[in-house]
Amino acid sequence: MKLLKSIHLAVIVLLVTSACRSNATEKSNKSTPPNILVILCDDLGYADVGFNGSTDIITPEMDKLAVNGTIFTSAYVAHSFCGPSRAALMTGRYPHQVGAPFNLHSNSSESDADNMGVTTSEVFMPKALQEAGYYTSVIGKWHLGASPKFHPNKRGFDNFYGFLGGGHNYFPSKYRKVYESQKKQGVKIIRDYVFPLEHNGKEVRETEYITDALSRETVNTIKLAKKNKQPFFTYLAYNAPHVPLEAKTEDMEVFNSIKDKDRRTYAGMVYAVDRGVGEIVAALKETNQLENTIIVFLSDNGGNFDHGANNAPLKGTKGDTWEGGFRVPMFVHWPAKLKGGQIYDYPVSALDLYPSFLNAANAKLPKDKVLSGKDILPAVIAGEDARPNEMIYALRYRHGYCDVAGRKGSLKVTRMGNEPWLMFDVDKDKGEKKNLGKRYPEKMKDMIQEIEEWTHSFIKPMWYYSAKDEELWEDGRMPQFKETFEVDMLQNSASKR
Ligand code: CA
Repeated sequence: MKLLKSIHLAVIVLLVTSACRSNATEKSNKSTPPNILVILCDDLGYADVGFNGSTDIITPEMDKLAVNGTIFTSAYVAHSFCGPSRAALMTGRYPHQVGAPFNLHSNSSESDADNMGVTTSEVFMPKALQEAGYYTSVIGKWHLGASPKFHPNKRGFDNFYGFLGGGHNYFPSKYRKVYESQKKQGVKIIRDYVFPLEHNGKEVRETEYITDALSRETVNTIKLAKKNKQPFFTYLAYNAPHVPLEAKTEDMEVFNSIKDKDRRTYAGMVYAVDRGVGEIVAALKETNQLENTIIVFLSDNGGNFDHGANNAPLKGTKGDTWEGGFRVPMFVHWPAKLKGGQIYDYPVSALDLYPSFLNAANAKLPKDKVLSGKDILPAVIAGEDARPNEMIYALRYRHGYCDVAGRKGSLKVTRMGNEPWLMFDVDKDKGEKKNLGKRYPEKMKDMIQEIEEWTHSFIKPMWYYSAKDEELWEDGRMPQFKETFEVDMLQNSASKR
């Protein structure tokens, strides 16, 4: 493990004195299965948390956990936007391999419902944990299928509180009016962003700001699991800070010095998440569970810089295969096994969570389960490279060429649209400024070939985001792998710059 970096040092020095320690009376029994809490933000930028060096947004609660755990500087998700990234988290496989490389569009419960969801032939992670005795909850955004057979309660979650679509408005007092008025008018398709929230299939009359509501429900799951003497797995999928940009006035006031209104609102939304994290940690302490709870915090994809986010020093934004598209802020806090104050620079993937959690929980891998990631916890605990010589991939289907990338060790090759292939050392050159393709043409060719071989494992998408996607696919004008991986583009790249 490399030395702490200066950008983090200030935060660590500042916070280590107020270190987040578990209750001293808490007993850590090594044989007790750990609780698992995944806190997933939606479209949170790499630079938008204190522990990653944010200078304008403050996240004191998250920072305390991060500096007392391990901060991952090279954590990747399996796709650069929402639905496919979440499908990967739940299945442990790249979304293209399970037919889920596109977002489900709004109100996908309305049409073609049988196909509009992640295939039930894939056993979701919570199902395996449920079978190992865990109390499993998903709180917040689902986005993996809205019709009954894809409902969270059918995919291994005992408890679901949230919404089935791809996002939601934040103030019940405002969105309820829109919903009720449209319902009264008989509007046929009401956008799911204004639907009432639900609890295990039953509509609820939520009154709190959504981020606060999701934090509150998470606290409830923690207390309930304790009461029932069950280990818990909670997947807390905040929709914040995804659009619409809507923050509480009191949270925005913390950021009065930020002049740009979008950024100020976004900052308030992140601050509400941070406040929630504080409440959750307090509940874990109160119930003597903090010591043996694995808390993983990350974002589902890169920040969207058109909507207030900042991915610095990474290049690019949500949706692309620059680092800013799919390299995300992440930390793991687990006092029982993982010593604090660590920075882990080796690349890891959100795909690694499925096998890591199952092993930590001593849960059985579902029969014939195929996984794209691996159990990284032993290597992380030892401070070693968890996936030497293993590539991390990203691919987004576009109209025309694909956006594509592969990282192995510190090297990454990428190609976007009809541009040439490029190669970077993304450990040193996070902003992807210096193309190394000309210096290492053979290495680059090998890596591109490896990515091309990975695409052989893909299956046909089970749904498309738009009719245009479907038309292009059926016509053979998507995904255009031949053109994407053609050698000519390599030569162009080598001669360019
Ligand atoms: Ca997202």
